[in-house]
Amino acid sequence: MDQPISGYHCDDEQHWVAELACGHNQHVRHNPPWMSRPWVTTLEGRQSMIGQLLQCKKCDEQAPPDRDRT
Ligand SMILES: [Zn+2]
Repeated sequence: MDQPISGYHCDDEQHWVAELACGHNQHVRHNPPWMSRPWVTTLEGRQSMIGQLLQCKKCDEQAPPDRDRT
């Protein structure tokens, strides 16, 4: 299921995690050449992706939310 990005945070290993509108989190690693997401490395890039849709596997699996919506 596609879900819009509503925000971001860094995990314990300094990887960026997108917070999706559904309450699930999803890593958005920039790890070339396997995962090329140069936008995630800059504040401007991350902000430009707010509202963009990511495929949320956890929704497809009906997983419980990763975080409380505050
Ligand atoms: Zn989800």
